[in-house]
Amino acid sequence: MFTKLSAAVDRLRSENSTPDQRAAQALKSREEAEEEAAEAEEQSRSELFHCQSCDTVYVATGKRTCSKCEGSVEQVRSTLRNR
Ligand SMILES: [Zn+2]
Repeated sequence: MFTKLSAAVDRLRSENSTPDQRAAQALKSREEAEEEAAEAEEQSRSELFHCQSCDTVYVATGKRTCSKCEGSVEQVRSTLRNR
């Protein structure tokens, strides 16, 4: 019975991809995930909003109103330091 079981495991292993292929796939998907995270970080960096009423800065995408005072927020660009 034990021999039969290990034979079944061997067959399963040969049907699936090899450990090397799985490792390569895992590495590739991790690289893609890191790229996406970097892109998201870059987007959030350029999407800053400032509420003049309560002096709160938000990092958001397409934010229009302040969560605290519901006033309108102004988009702040990275050129703020040039003012
Ligand atoms: Zn506010």
